[in-house]
Amino acid sequence: VTGVRLGGEPPQGAAWPGSLDVDGLLRAGWRPAPFRQFILKIHSRCNLACDYCYVYRSPDQTWRDQPGQMSERTVAEAANRISQHVRRHRLAATQVVLHGGEPLLVGPDQLDQICRALRRPMPPGVELDLYVQTNGTLLDEPILAVLRRHHVRVGVSLDGPAAVQDARRPRTGGRTSHDLVTSGLDRLRAPASRHLFAGLLSVVDLRADPVALYDHLLEHEPPAIDLLLPHANWSSPPASRSPSTPAPHGEWLVAVFDRWYAAGRPETRVRLFEAVIRGLLGRQSPVESLGLSPVRAVVVETDGSIEQIDTLKTAYPGATHTGLRVRHDPFDAALLVPGIVARQIGREALAETCRRCELHPVCGGGYYPHRYHRTTGFRNPSVYCQDLALLIRHVRSRLAADLQRARSVPLSA
Ligand code: SF4
Repeated sequence: VTGVRLGGEPPQGAAWPGSLDVDGLLRAGWRPAPFRQFILKIHSRCNLACDYCYVYRSPDQTWRDQPGQMSERTVAEAANRISQHVRRHRLAATQVVLHGGEPLLVGPDQLDQICRALRRPMPPGVELDLYVQTNGTLLDEPILAVLRRHHVRVGVSLDGPAAVQDARRPRTGGRTSHDLVTSGLDRLRAPASRHLFAGLLSVVDLRADPVALYDHLLEHEPPAIDLLLPHANWSSPPASRSPSTPAPHGEWLVAVFDRWYAAGRPETRVRLFEAVIRGLLGRQSPVESLGLSPVRAVVVETDGSIEQIDTLKTAYPGATHTGLRVRHDPFDAALLVPGIVARQIGREALAETCRRCELHPVCGGGYYPHRYHRTTGFRNPSVYCQDLALLIRHVRSRLAADLQRARSVPLSA
């Protein structure tokens, strides 16, 4: 790994991971894991105005300096760098996530060109998994035709029924988005495109009844659901806590878990719950927000900047910055940026409290951006610590009860 330049200066006092001794780690034998997921911000604007958006409503406002759309030249440079990374690390497969803003604002023709440009330099035999994360409002037939042509799997953000979705995710100008997303999902689920539907992504909203919301999401027959905690950190904590309800998000998630777990037949995958179960069984986490598995994702901004995961924008201005660009730098250069290293060293990155916590092999300190405090940086437990502990302990007790029952079942020869 060569050509390392360190990322943006953390604000005063946010010493960690800026002070991380990457050279010391290398001398001790640690090596970075190559990136597997490349998140391309192909469009930097959006047609929705979500009230919790981490791009437009965060302390970091760098989206204002980004071009509206990724140029053909930048797409080609990113594709060549991805191909270079794949060859250098002899990867058999890689994933590119088309992201924004709202990525489908590029329109069908540009989308077609982007997909072609991404496949063009890929070495023969390497599996390129194309994925788009969309707000679902623009899934019309011309777009779907392009997605089918290039086999782009589709994740759709939906926060719930109209009352919830339209309160949190209105269109710019305040009009409803739920009807557009519902129509888009109907088209996506039609036989011609159904195979592309990867799942729904939904942000937990305490004002919504958890089971009713989960049942609403199920009506769209998602193969998987990602439930995300709203972005918050120790300097900007969730507003909804009280001494009598210290873990409201944990309680909300427990209610959905019980509904999901008790279903007579598997209705859908809920990746957060699968991550907890896998962690309890000593396996690796499939999600970035939980567990100790190395995070192997990197962002390419619309202007070609190589950045850390964009939800870090919720911490402070410039938190995602690496100083690298696809035009000049290989992705290997980003592998030694302290903020990226911190996501790959597992337990070593945890606060002392987390290291002593019995749940840390499952929890992993929670989602990294949720650990931020302006004076101590990212070496803290998650601001959702109590919520995560409540959920993990609840899942553990349900599994333990079932395993106990299984042990008592007589087995015939
Ligand atoms: S965030 Fe809380 S529950 Fe998770 S490992 Fe740290 S102390 Fe344990």
